[in-house]
Amino acid sequence: MNLKWRLSLANTLAVLVPVGLTVLVALAYLFLYGQLSGLGGLWSDYQKMAEVHSVVLSSEKSILEATPGAVEKAAFQQRLRDDLAGIQGEVVIIKNGKLLFSSRSFSKIAIAKFLEEGKASSAAGPVEAGGTDYVVREVDLRFKDGSQGYVLLLAPVTRSLPALGEFLFLLGASFVLSFLAMNFWVSVRFSRSILSPLSNLRQAAAEISRGNLDCQIAEEGDEEIRALCRDLERMRIKLKDSVHIQMQYEDNRKMLISSISHDLQTPVTSIKGYVEGILDGVANTPEKERKYLQTIHVKAEQIDQMIEDLLLYAKLDLHQVPFNFEKTDAEDYLRDCIEENEAELARRQIEITLRTDLPQRRELLLDRERMKRVLVNILDNACKYMNKTPGKITLILRETPAGTIVEVRDNGAGIPAQDLPRIFDRFFRSDLVGLRKNGSGLGLAIAKQIVEGHGGRIWAVSGEGVGTSIMISLPKGAGGADRAVLAPKGSEVRGGSGGSG
Ligand code: ADP
Repeated sequence: MNLKWRLSLANTLAVLVPVGLTVLVALAYLFLYGQLSGLGGLWSDYQKMAEVHSVVLSSEKSILEATPGAVEKAAFQQRLRDDLAGIQGEVVIIKNGKLLFSSRSFSKIAIAKFLEEGKASSAAGPVEAGGTDYVVREVDLRFKDGSQGYVLLLAPVTRSLPALGEFLFLLGASFVLSFLAMNFWVSVRFSRSILSPLSNLRQAAAEISRGNLDCQIAEEGDEEIRALCRDLERMRIKLKDSVHIQMQYEDNRKMLISSISHDLQTPVTSIKGYVEGILDGVANTPEKERKYLQTIHVKAEQIDQMIEDLLLYAKLDLHQVPFNFEKTDAEDYLRDCIEENEAELARRQIEITLRTDLPQRRELLLDRERMKRVLVNILDNACKYMNKTPGKITLILRETPAGTIVEVRDNGAGIPAQDLPRIFDRFFRSDLVGLRKNGSGLGLAIAKQIVEGHGGRIWAVSGEGVGTSIMISLPKGAGGADRAVLAPKGSEVRGGSGGSG
């Protein structure tokens, strides 16, 4: 049952139960009173009283309706006596202060008391006479001869009724006590099912606000409170995750700064060294000087490239690079790419070819410029880490049920198995002995951001000494207006987008 219904039920019970109990107490009291007085049930007393009352009233009526002479007649007096006999009542008739008739013999004192009670404006209570208590009703008369008279109708009262004040006090006390008890019970129940879980929640919230995100919130209490606990626990877990991610970002930022300073330091130190060499006259011939300046130029270009990579990576990471997707024939696109790089590769004695395993021409939605950057970075690596002559690079186009795969396969040095999962991390550079090349360590990280911006995946398959294949999988309809035009989030903290395949 939900909290709303439980609250209304508890409130209703908190009123109904005390009312019911009070009624029960009233009934029990009346019953017990009747039993203890030994005079039968109290209800029968009330019944009897009603009967007495009606008999007295009808007798009074018949007296008032009778002719003045009738009251003096024995037959009328006998009738009154008979009427009252049914309730063990008596009748006394007084004329001119003298007793004219009495259905039972009473002392003069008793008759005087009856008269006094009958005339009193407010009833003082029953009058005791001959061992019986009587309620007195007096009817004034005028006799035929004009003399003043009274008829006293005496109704017996067998016992006194319970005191009303005492009875009401008992009822009030039982209502108040049962109401308090009921409220106490309701409070205890609600405290167990609502207040104590709420207090636990408050403690947990205080812990969380103090930065302790490890305190678990247990589900307890009513359905609504349990739902609240569940939501807060979910919130705690999310908060913990986001703090964790925040810390990772912070670590990454620190690592980024240290990597940048380290990577920039090397060429800057070289430039400084060569400039000092020129200034100190170490480059004392025009050829030497030219060689020094060429080296300075190369190092400056390295710094320039590094800064450019860094800026692009930072922009991609902040999703500030818009993608401009266009329908592009995959095969034509790769042929163009080969053409652009062929000469430079040939100079390095590397042969590049295209193999297409596609059953038919395939159009892809590509940001041509950005995807070219991906291919250039991969080809650049294939050249840098090429240790065979002649070197071979093959671009392969293939189709899978999920989309199109572009593979860039080389027969270079390969990547050690333990480094393979990390090569897409920014600033990661494998320390393959003898093959430590210049580079920012951002080439594949940038490639990964761009491929993911196309909704694709990138991963590497490599055999040390055999060669490396960088695979790009682009889903059917990759890119396009219906896709996000900014690079997706999360690449920074998750590292490589693909396994070692
Ligand atoms: P870098 O600027 O160092 O080339 P990348 O992000 O482009 O940075 O590559 C990361 C690392 O991956 C490289 O340092 C290298 O160790 C390894 N790597 C990438 N491509 C190849 C490849 N074709 N052959 C061998 N190793 C590679």
